[in-house]
Amino acid sequence: MRIVLVTVLGALMLSSSIVRSGAPQQAENVVLFTVDGLRWQEVFAGADAALLSEEAGGVDDVEALRQEFWSDDADQRRRVLLPFLWEVVVPAGQLFGNAWRGSEVRVTNGRNFSYPGYNELLAGFADDRIDSNAKNLNPNPNVLEWLNRQAGFEGRVAAFTAWDVFPFILNEPRAGIPVNSGWEPLDDVPLTPRQELINQLMRNSLHESEGVRSDELTFFAALEYLQKARPRLLFISLDGTDAGAHSRRYDNYLHSARLGDEYLKILWQTLQSMDGYAGTTALLIATDHGRGDAPDGWRGHGDDVPGSELMWIAAMGPGVAALGERTDTDTLTQSQIAATIASLLGLDYRAAVPEAAAPIEQIGGHGR
Ligand SMILES: [Zn+2]
Repeated sequence: MRIVLVTVLGALMLSSSIVRSGAPQQAENVVLFTVDGLRWQEVFAGADAALLSEEAGGVDDVEALRQEFWSDDADQRRRVLLPFLWEVVVPAGQLFGNAWRGSEVRVTNGRNFSYPGYNELLAGFADDRIDSNAKNLNPNPNVLEWLNRQAGFEGRVAAFTAWDVFPFILNEPRAGIPVNSGWEPLDDVPLTPRQELINQLMRNSLHESEGVRSDELTFFAALEYLQKARPRLLFISLDGTDAGAHSRRYDNYLHSARLGDEYLKILWQTLQSMDGYAGTTALLIATDHGRGDAPDGWRGHGDDVPGSELMWIAAMGPGVAALGERTDTDTLTQSQIAATIASLLGLDYRAAVPEAAAPIEQIGGHGR
């Protein structure tokens, strides 16, 4: 009986994968997930030996952190740090940015810090006028606001971000999409019991930074909104990695990176349990900038920090061929992400915003 069941299940899985590979590949929904200033070096090689230290990494208990994250084998090390990325996303999708193996993804704004990076990523082009992280409303359009005006997407685009500058980067008043950022309470009434709890936690918890909310609050607020409001483009932006590096706490940096990976796993499992999302949702994962090298450069980033122009991009889902870790590719740019999001949904962002860079062909670009 068990053998028969296994055979039937196997046949079902085989036939559905044949149908899927023969069907036109296009996503119905996209989740964009960013992890602020997570270096490509950790993405592709896991914890950095030079930073598992008190001196360079600000680590109190070096031995405990080594126990947690170290292996002499770089392949094993990156799996320990980012298990969902390496065990699920990469085999089912693609990952670009391993500069050691001929795949570079570059930030092109020349500034290599957050606002210019998120502008490049979301507008689709670098803009010299954006030269600070100050709370100025962005003059540029962005792919979220554009998508919110397309048929079938109206009112179905939202952003949840740890950093409170995003309402300005996305120009929330003009864009007309909900952008929940920083310690701003959730206000899409009537609130669910979980949303009430998240608001209570935001009110009654330690605000280590006034401008940045803890990643767990941002993530679970976004996850609840996903199930409640069913957005077709959801942007989730985490910040703990950047905060850990700037404060020279390599332990916080690594733990934030692994938590982000865990959140991706929870997000993906939730999507696969939802009608209208299972099998029809693409995931795009990226960052806003790189950082410098050990022993000191890793803490910062900017036009004066060599290496902080290098980043990485991962994707999986409908329209993304399962090509795994990419090596020896053309150089990609951060500015390609905006049009790639549209392209995964079968839409052409560049028809409206011609200065935007072309979508990444290998992940659903379809030559648009
Ligand atoms: Zn940043």
